[in-house]
Amino acid sequence: MKGKFCPKCGATNKPFYRGFCIDCYIKDHPKLLQADDITLKRCQKCLRVLSRGEWVSGSPESVGKIVASKVKTQLKEPKVSVRLLESGTKGDIYEVAATGRLGSEPVALTREVKVSYQKGICDVCSRKSGNYYEVLVQLRPAGEEADLGRMKSVLVFLRNESRSLTKKDRNAEVFRYSFVKDGIDVFFGSLRVAKIALQHMQATYHPKVKESYTLTGVDHASGKRRYRVTFSVRV
Ligand SMILES: [Zn+2]
Ligand SMILES: [Zn+2]
Repeated sequence: MKGKFCPKCGATNKPFYRGFCIDCYIKDHPKLLQADDITLKRCQKCLRVLSRGEWVSGSPESVGKIVASKVKTQLKEPKVSVRLLESGTKGDIYEVAATGRLGSEPVALTREVKVSYQKGICDVCSRKSGNYYEVLVQLRPAGEEADLGRMKSVLVFLRNESRSLTKKDRNAEVFRYSFVKDGIDVFFGSLRVAKIALQHMQATYHPKVKESYTLTGVDHASGKRRYRVTFSVRV
């Protein structure tokens, strides 16, 4: 017998690869395209997902990229694409499609990947809902008598400045205040925003400002020391 003969299924009229018909070879080699189910931590508040230590968008495109980044294929010159097939309450199903070659034969393979979600809360949402702040601005009276009206107008000024400055920096969105016995405490999520707001305030209110730093810990990701800054502002 001259022609090729598949020892598994007996086929003779198919393309062959390494002694088997291409269909049997593909069936026996699931690792040609490996795409495992994954579980992602997802923020309950903003639906961002945690990927390589970073909170990124939870959109189908973004999750699709995460799925694609974990795909392994033994095809030659592979092209991998991922799309959302189904979105359910327990998770999503993505389809991974890969095209490439086995020897000289063009091959197309698909897998379904289940993406499950674990409840979590991202760092920014937890900061916003918790006690987090980077900067405390203490508004205090300049003289013996506290001028609460003046302090309130400074507070409004700082809040407006903060709002217009925090468009791109999510941490900077933190802005809280509380009235205390001798003035107003204003909390900022970002040192940069607080500094600019205070600078702009100088022009109108000419306060005396004292700055102090408290070490609060070390950032695990960057190894940098973290400080909490307090500005004591006499208005
Ligand atoms: Zn076969
Ligand atoms: Zn969040």
